Amino acid sequence: MSSTYKIAVFPGDGIGKEIVPQAVRVLRAIGARYDVKVDLQEALVGGSAIDEFGVPLPEESLRLALSSDAVLLGAVGGPKWEGLDYSVRPERALLGLREKLGLFANLRPAKLFSALVDASTLKQSVIEGIDIVVIRELTGGIYFGRPRGVEKIDGQERGINTEVYTTSEIERIACVAFEVARRRHRKVCSVDKANVLESSELWRRVVTAVHEDYQDIELSHMYVDNCSMQLIRNPRQFDVILTNNMFGDILSDEAAMLTGSIGMLPSASIGGDVGMYEPIHGSAPDIAGQDRANPIATILSVGMMFKYSFGLDIGYDDIESAVTRVLDRGYRTADIYSPGNKLVGTGEMTDVILHELA
Ligand code: NAD
Repeated sequence: MSSTYKIAVFPGDGIGKEIVPQAVRVLRAIGARYDVKVDLQEALVGGSAIDEFGVPLPEESLRLALSSDAVLLGAVGGPKWEGLDYSVRPERALLGLREKLGLFANLRPAKLFSALVDASTLKQSVIEGIDIVVIRELTGGIYFGRPRGVEKIDGQERGINTEVYTTSEIERIACVAFEVARRRHRKVCSVDKANVLESSELWRRVVTAVHEDYQDIELSHMYVDNCSMQLIRNPRQFDVILTNNMFGDILSDEAAMLTGSIGMLPSASIGGDVGMYEPIHGSAPDIAGQDRANPIATILSVGMMFKYSFGLDIGYDDIESAVTRVLDRGYRTADIYSPGNKLVGTGEMTDVILHELA
């Protein structure tokens, strides 16, 4: 393969500035291995963009994202900007990018590295071997539906939010789930609350109809309350979990915590022409600038970029197996450290991953 991909690199704030340059080293290494040429261009988003330009998502950064093939993002936010109005907070950059890039599907894998089995709060026998992807609809549902707000009525206040989904919104996210399942273990569990909510009844009906075109995939349906229980009881039953915005928000955090460490988990947001890849954690101001951040979530996010934006599944597989070997050899950043292992910083962890890749 010989092609050039333009990648917008947004380190953001806090540890984002430390982990993104490390992930870029891995990106270049995998690119070189598979003859994928990368043209990387860096710009400011979040708090650092507020400091420089007064806004969290400057026009120039947005233009760069829109003209790229993929975006690699670190994290945004920090105490310095917490007093600002919500409309100009660093986190607005994420919402702006999701909206403008049309990223309606959020993919969050929760896979347990067996060397880290002790980091989970659940029993080894329950979590060993889990490998789940939660696919969350990201731009619809109750977080965006109207009417919304708080109104005064009969001498008291009333808060309103509205769960809304259209056929086409459900169809497109269902297609993403079935396509992702095709590259995994071919099982989709669609999660809803169809016993109570009409919008969920529609969700279930549309997902079932879309499934007609994906007969090679096994489809099941589950109520969200049962799913949250099953994730703790028997998480190995799941391959791909497909769900709406709010249920996905909650279930993806639950699934992530099965694996025990926030510093290990990547994510992909896709749907438009440009995919966005970022760790699930934030800017960790408490450890920023100390070479203590775990770069693995961001490095695995680079793997997801190769898989979902460049169609190179082997790029992800190579990175994941290098990470597995590094963990098996006992290398740990502080967040996943336990006695008897080798404590390393952000840069050294990346060095050993690159060494394994080579
Ligand atoms: P956080 O994820 O930044 O940190 C939570 C805890 O996990 C901290 O103790 C931190 O040190 C640790 N941690 C996180 N990532 C780590 C890593 N890679 N290696 C080692 N330890 C790690 O969440 P928070 O403290 O609630 O938020 C801090 C800031 O980040 C806030 O401004 C918040 O709004 C922002 N935030 C941004 C994003 C994003 O950019 N996508 C997501 C969540 C939070």
